Formats: sequence, C-alpha cells, structure tokens
Amino acid sequence: MTATDQHAGSTGQVTEERARQVAEEARQTTWDQPSFGKELFLGRFRLDLIHPHPRPDDEARERGEKFLAELEQFCREQIDPMVIERDALIPDDVVRGLAGIGAFGMKIDREYGGLGLTQRYYNQALMLVGSVNASLGALLSAHQSIGVPQPLKMFGTEAQKKEFLPRCARGEVSAFLLTEPDVGSDPARLHCTATPDGDDYVLEGTKLWTTNGVIADLLVVMAAVPPGEGRRGGITAFVVEGNSPGITVENRNAFMGLRGIENGVTRLHQVRVPAANRIGKEGQGLKIALSTLNTGRLSLPAICAGAAKWCVQAAREWAAERVQWGKPVGEHEAVSGKIAFMAATAYGLEAVLDLSSDLADAGSHDIRIEAALAKLYASELAWTVADELVQVRGGRGYETAASLAARGERGVPAEQVLRDLRINRIFEGSTEIMHLMIAREAVDAHLSVAGDIIDPKAELKAKARAGAKAGGFYAKWLPTLVAGRGQLPKGYSEFGPLARHLRFVERSARRLARQTFYGMARWQGGMEQHQRYLARLVDIGAELYAISAACVRAQMIREDQPERADDVQQLANAFCEQARLRAEALFDRLWENSDDVDREVALAVLAGKHTWLEEGVLDPSLPGPTISAAPTGASTKENLHRTTR
Ligand SMILES: Cc1cc2nc3c(=O)[nH]c(=O)nc-3n(C[C@H](O)[C@H](O)[C@H](O)COP(=O)(O)OP(=O)(O)OC[C@H]3O[C@@H](n4cnc5c(N)ncnc54)[C@H](O)[C@@H]3O)c2cc1C
Repeated sequence: MTATDQHAGSTGQVTEERARQVAEEARQTTWDQPSFGKELFLGRFRLDLIHPHPRPDDEARERGEKFLAELEQFCREQIDPMVIERDALIPDDVVRGLAGIGAFGMKIDREYGGLGLTQRYYNQALMLVGSVNASLGALLSAHQSIGVPQPLKMFGTEAQKKEFLPRCARGEVSAFLLTEPDVGSDPARLHCTATPDGDDYVLEGTKLWTTNGVIADLLVVMAAVPPGEGRRGGITAFVVEGNSPGITVENRNAFMGLRGIENGVTRLHQVRVPAANRIGKEGQGLKIALSTLNTGRLSLPAICAGAAKWCVQAAREWAAERVQWGKPVGEHEAVSGKIAFMAATAYGLEAVLDLSSDLADAGSHDIRIEAALAKLYASELAWTVADELVQVRGGRGYETAASLAARGERGVPAEQVLRDLRINRIFEGSTEIMHLMIAREAVDAHLSVAGDIIDPKAELKAKARAGAKAGGFYAKWLPTLVAGRGQLPKGYSEFGPLARHLRFVERSARRLARQTFYGMARWQGGMEQHQRYLARLVDIGAELYAISAACVRAQMIREDQPERADDVQQLANAFCEQARLRAEALFDRLWENSDDVDREVALAVLAGKHTWLEEGVLDPSLPGPTISAAPTGASTKENLHRTTR
C-alpha cells in the first residue's frame, strides 16, 4: 500500500471521516499552559490571564525599536511600492537590501545569525513593511512564519539549526509546500510521496501555490512516507534545497492581489533528500505544520492591522478635504459612521495583535486559540475596513493609484489594498476552516467528557459509562455559568468607563458556554455538521476576546502614556460598543436563522435544480478541467526557478 493509498483508501477517495481523523491526529491535544481563549469558551472570563497587559522587556524593546527604525528608513529610501505593483515583481535589489538589514532573520535566534526579535517586534516589522506593499509582508512572513525557520526552531535538531538557520538569516529565501492541485483544506488527500531509499528519501509530486517558490533557496516540503516494515509512515516534513535535481518551477502564478509575490507550481521528480533533512519524525508533518502556525498565524493579523491603520489615514485625509453638498464628506453621517468603524477597528485589531504577541513572548501562556481568533477576526474585519475606504473615496476608491497619478492626483492605492487583503480570508486556514478548528477547541471540554455519548458509533455500554461521567461534570459545571462578576454593578471598576464592557464579556462568556452546551445537547454527534452554528459561537468568542484586548490595552496606555488617556478611552469605547452589537446579533442568530432553508436551497442548486436561474448570461471562463491533475514524472516545462542573491 502506498502512502497515498493509506490516506486516500483504495478508491483514491478520502471520506469525510478519514479527513477528520487526519486533522484530529495533527491536533495538539495537551494544554500545558493556561489559555485565556480556552477558559473563555468554557464560560470563565479569566481577566487575570491577560491583565495587566504583558509588556516587552527593555532589552527586547531597544533591539526591536532599533530594527524598526532601520527598516523604516530602508522602506522609505529604497522601495518604490508602485514599481512592485506595476511590474508585478519585487526587485531583486529590494530582496537583497532587506536581507542586508537582517529582515530575513527577524525571528531567528541570534546564536544562528538572526536578529532574535520578539513576536511583538517581528509583527510590527511585518505591519510596517506590509503597509508599503503587501507582497513584501507575504515574502517575509512566508519565509519566516511557515518557511524553514519556524518549524526548525520548534522541531529541528541542533545540526539542522546550525546548517540552515544562518542561511535563512542571511537572506536565502524559504517557502512552505503543502498545497497540491487536489489538496487544499484537506491534507488527507496529499499525493506527494517521500519513498525511503537507503539514507535518503525520494520525493515525487506536484505542489501548488508555493509563495516564494519561484525564488526559494530552501523549501519545507510536506510529503507522505509509505508505511512499511517497522515504519508507520504518514505525512512528513522535509527541508529541501531549492535547486535540487528534479525540482522544476513550472509556472509563476498571478492573483487578484499580492501581485509582487513569487508564487509557483513546483514539480518534484525523483528528488533525493537526505534523511538528515527530515524535520521531526515520520508522520509528524501535519502536527509540525499546525504547531508552527500556533504563533505563525500572527503574521497575517499584523499585516491586516497595518492595512487597517493605513485605511484610517487615507480615509481621514480624503474625507476631511472632499466637499460635497456643502460640507466635507466625512461630516455626512453616512460617511462618518464608516470612519468611526474604521478607526475603532484599527484600534481593536492592533489591540488583539499586540496582546496575542505579548502573551506569546511572555512564554507562560498557550496562545493557540488567541492566535487563531486573531487571524480569523483580523482577516475578516480588515477586508471590511478596506471596502469602506473604497466606498468613502467614491470613484477614486475604484481607480488605480497609477491612473490617479497619471492624471495629476495623489496615487492612493485604495483598490489595491482591498485586492491585497482578500487572500487573508483564504490562506493559512480559510475562515471556514478556522471556524471549525476553533470550534473544535471550544467544544473540547464537552467532547472529552461526553465523547462516547455523542459518538454515533460507540456501543451502548460505552455510552452509558460516558453518560455517568458527563453527568458528574455537568452537575458541577453548569451551575458555574449562572452568576458572575459581570452582574455586579461595580465589577471591574478599576477600568473606569470601560468596566461595563468587561462586565459584558464576563456575562457573555457564560452565555456562550451555555449556548455551546445547548447545541451539544440538541445535536450531540451531529453538532459538527452545524457549521454555521459553530461559526457563530466562534465569532462571538472572537468579539469577546477583542473587547477584552481593547480594554486591557486602553488601561496599559492610560498608565504608560497618560497624555493619551482620553483618546484611547474614546477609541476603545467605540470599538467595544461596535463589537458588542456584533456579538449580540450573533447570539440572536444562533437560534433564529435561515440555516435549514438555506441547506435545502444549496442542495437543490448543487443538484442542478435551479439552472434556469443562470439563463441569459454567458460564461467567460477559459476552457480546461476544474482541477488539474497533479502529474508525476519528469517535467517537460522550462524551469522558472531563479535566485535573487
Ligand atoms: C496567493 C496564495 C498563496 C498561497 N501560499 C501557499 C503556500 O505558501 N504554501 C502552501 O502550501 N499553500 C499556499 N496557498 C494555498 C492556500 O493555503 C489554500 O488556498 C487554502 O488552504 C485553501 O485551500 P483551497 O484553495 O484548495 O480551497 P478548498 O480547500 O478547495 O476550499 C474551497 C472552499 O471550501 C471551504 N471548505 C473546505 N473544506 C471545508 C470544510 N471541511 N468545511 C467547511 N468549509 C470547507 C473553504 O473554506 C473554501 O471556502 C496559497 C494560496 C494562494 C491563493
């Protein structure tokens, strides 16, 4: 049986159950450190875990600020973002210049030649560089957050670290190769194989959408090792030299946004990789990828928060100057509402980002839920913020910066930021997958006590045993959800006028846990099929986390920069008001919604029942199969791989 067969089954099809099993095996199941997010979903608002807001130490701050200043100067003097957009290419001298100041080694420890920045400063650097052009943010974060440095930092041997990390820090670009034509959100379908041969593995397969793949010197490749005598096999991670014989970059892909990224289709044919380049054990690949993303996921919220901040500036400058119907457009209420949303959201996204990053740096918290919530929340909200900027700028919002500049106006790239942001809702875990992943953690407490009751396949005896165990758990847990500090009129009074928002979080966390329990009780084993219900629970959790972060950050700013106390109070309050309304609307829609009707409609559409609706239009798509085959064997195409060094 080949590794692929093992995953795909003899028909080559992966069942829903098998896909879930593979995801479940990759999940980190232990909780060795406290988690604010986990507690929140259990109905316990553990403010003590996030307040006082952790702060970077002096040494980390000094090093971080020094690098940010250098990076800012480089960006201002050496990068023309419009050239990247026009040529759909980051010039090689920009890549080399970034390498020269150490930007490819921001997250790499100093002992391996990196800058050893904290998560906080790494994220701030991504925010800065991503605001110049989002493709730069993607280049650096694909290299460091999912490329070679992070998995090696967490799972590499000392020899691997010594060999590869200094190269990465010097600017040898790395890429992460998991996706294939038939593998997106479902890694159980992975076809790329790694067959042991003596002291090597031989890799075979095609990888799709490899960010940095075209210029990468080092790759992390996920491939399935076939099971054999004495080996379990399974999806495994390898560090592979980008110029290894048998690797062909067959295509440079182009997208709606991120025009500058070097994203490729990478074909691997009989690529020999020494066993010494395997990261972790055979079969650990997905676990490594997921653990890497525990903090790696914070890159995208950084880029999103940076984009939201820039949107506020662009909206402010425009809406104060543009006069229509006798006053600046920003003073018309329809527009001012959008500006308030943009400003409050920029504040909220930065609050979520900084809190999550500082918790990661403190090292004493498990932040996997917080980072996942940050990715989900920031990618969704930043997109809306950019959309509002386009709207506020009217026709100029839809016009390209180059066109605006060509006719003598300021080249504000509003439409570009919208295009660039869109992908954040899809990659590094799509919104739908993030909902499922976080929901899985949110209901984990229930699954671990009620496992067999809700497992449709469990036998009656096992169900009875689980029933007794669950009864004991719920008898203790449910009463804790009835009352709490959020009901006391003076609860959290040290937060001044923001205290009422924290009381809301405390009450809502208990309500959220109760609703999760009701969902479990109603659907039991079928709950996972109610994805929209689960998504709402998760989105409520995200709003509650964001409100908490906004208040805790406000308190920190009030203490550290008293001159900003009023300003921060205004923004934090507005953010909390808006977030509360979103949370309330989500609560309302938990049980009053059109989910059942919609499910029927979707099935009818998929079955072709409503094709009459599509009459009267033509399909402009180019011909070709919906999903290309992932060919194996030697490539017949020109190798587009190049190096920027
Ligand atoms: C610009 C760009 C850069 C990328 N960079 C990289 C990279 O560097 N390395 C890499 O390995 N990959 C990369 N990717 C791939 C990216 O991670 C995938 O696009 C992403 O994982 C989604 O997979 P997919 O596109 O195949 O969508 P699919 O998995 O086909 O999903 C289609 C839709 O169905 C939803 N969906 C899928 N499964 C479920 C489910 N179980 N329940 C509910 N909804 C579901 C998805 O959310 C999505 O809306 C990149 C993609 C792009 C476009």
